[in-house]
Amino acid sequence: MKANECEYCSGDIQPKKVTVNYSYKGKLVIIKDVPVGVCQECGQRYYAAATLEKLDTMAQNSDVAPERISVPVMVMSP
Ligand SMILES: [Zn+2]
Repeated sequence: MKANECEYCSGDIQPKKVTVNYSYKGKLVIIKDVPVGVCQECGQRYYAAATLEKLDTMAQNSDVAPERISVPVMVMSP
């Protein structure tokens, strides 16, 4: 397997900046401009270990977030 090849579909992985919905201890945090590798074929995201650590740290300090949004929460009825 090549370094920039998707492990699921062998597609090409390109570096991108994405918005991540990150859940930390039941608290949802949205983090923008996160650098990840994205498979061009299946959309699988690949995070560097350092990036995941940073997401964790940022989620723990979400009190300093410059922006807040309200999110609708729904339940699908049968
Ligand atoms: Zn893929």
